[in-house]
Amino acid sequence: MVQEKITAIVLAAGRGARMESKIQKQYMVLDGKPLIYYALLAFENSAVDHIVLVTGAGEEEYCREEIVKPYDFSKVTAIVSGGKERYHSVYEGLKAAEGSDYVLIHDGARPCVTPKVIQAAIEGVREAKACVVGMPVKDTIKIADDLEYAVSTPNRSKLWLIQTPQAFSYSLVWQAYEALFEREDNLEGITDDAMVVEQMTAQRVKLIRGSYKNIKVTTPEDLTIAEKFLQKRIDN
Ligand code: C5P
Repeated sequence: MVQEKITAIVLAAGRGARMESKIQKQYMVLDGKPLIYYALLAFENSAVDHIVLVTGAGEEEYCREEIVKPYDFSKVTAIVSGGKERYHSVYEGLKAAEGSDYVLIHDGARPCVTPKVIQAAIEGVREAKACVVGMPVKDTIKIADDLEYAVSTPNRSKLWLIQTPQAFSYSLVWQAYEALFEREDNLEGITDDAMVVEQMTAQRVKLIRGSYKNIKVTTPEDLTIAEKFLQKRIDN
């Protein structure tokens, strides 16, 4: 059997404006380690072969010297700078992951991801070519109008919170991103990779269960919750 190559793209090029902190979110210290350490550790301890770390422009050296080398993340084989929007950063990561069979795209701002969730994404992508980790929503969700009045209430049993990793066959996601940038306009509102694959290809995206603990650290209260989860870490 030909050996397959699986690459994780870990995104850490966002500015984290909603955190309202002087220190960038990905470098804030959580339980003694920089936030980005935790996602890198989970992928280092998983079945992925390589990790591409996407950082802010000019932060590559800092990440190499202060994070990748000291913590001995041997699977990090490329550190590249990202772009203005998340999808620009993903595109840079995809270029660096050329030659992979599968890519797992992960928000570096989700430190509570585990090797178990990563394994579920790997198995999902082998089977379905495109899959995203998520969980069914617990709350009722409403669609609001511009004045913040409720317009409708979708059936909760069909709604999922979408997380990362999002895993794709490399050729599929590359083709989807190439098509996205050819479109040039109307790129607003692209918040995940599955959307790009859904809109630009005929491929259906499978949803697989991750964990309610796989939160995205976005606002200050998320730091407290993530720290608690990391302190009590068991692989689920
Ligand atoms: O902004 P959002 O919460 O969607 O960011 C999700 C992830 O994407 C974060 O890990 C962030 O660092 C990353 N990102 C990026 N490049 C951007 C914007 C976000 O790598 N331009």
